[in-house]
Amino acid sequence: MQMDNKRQTVRDNYARIASEIAEAAVKSGRKPEDIAFMAVTKTVDPELVNESIDCGIALLGENRVQEWQSKREAYRAGIPVDFIGALQSNKVKYLMGQIRLIHSVDRLSLAQEIDRQAEKHGIVQDILLEVNIGGEDSKSGTAPSELPALLEQVKAFSHVNVKGLMTIPPPCSDDRYLAAMEELFLRTKETDPALMQILSMGMSDDYAAAILHGSNLVRVGSALFGARDYSKVH
Ligand SMILES: *Cc1c(COP(=O)(O)O)cnc(C)c1O
Repeated sequence: MQMDNKRQTVRDNYARIASEIAEAAVKSGRKPEDIAFMAVTKTVDPELVNESIDCGIALLGENRVQEWQSKREAYRAGIPVDFIGALQSNKVKYLMGQIRLIHSVDRLSLAQEIDRQAEKHGIVQDILLEVNIGGEDSKSGTAPSELPALLEQVKAFSHVNVKGLMTIPPPCSDDRYLAAMEELFLRTKETDPALMQILSMGMSDDYAAAILHGSNLVRVGSALFGARDYSKVH
């Protein structure tokens, strides 16, 4: 596809998704602006990412440290970036002071390293704890039963702020995992309301359903930018 056509497709996709997000927000008793619409940029040409920003995208999600580093200069200045991918402890240092929110904290050792590096940089890093709500072996995330203990330990760090939870549910034809995650989020919020402000849940296939189950941050890639072409990633 020609670049002009691709840009038009992003504009059309943005308009459609934004209106579906707004509709789901209202249906769930909230306002459209209560839901953050993140553009997930992996494999996407920075020109198209900028097109989405021109449409109204106000938050980017990056999966890989290296890919983000190679593309960041090409993004519109000032756009906030979240890190949503699997994160190795030895890469944490590259994110400090650059990333609004790290969504993928799934183990104590990673939280510990973020705390250590944040202290070194004189910042407090906002994070989400990632939950493996489907209990899949192949996926990262803490088991729901281990969340309370992890939260207790991470709460003790002075350079890490827990802002909520993130999940990537298994593909599923019904809402059971979204409902389970909503339940876990609300239960955790009862004991720690200040720490449970963000529920990062919902991707291209389920963002509207996720919002109906309490998500206030949806991470959308292929529905916005089209199918990913991994051959182009260096
Ligand atoms: C790739 C990715 C997304 C977006 O996936 P789509 O199905 O293309 O919307 C969302 N969250 C995470 C963590 C991802 O890695």
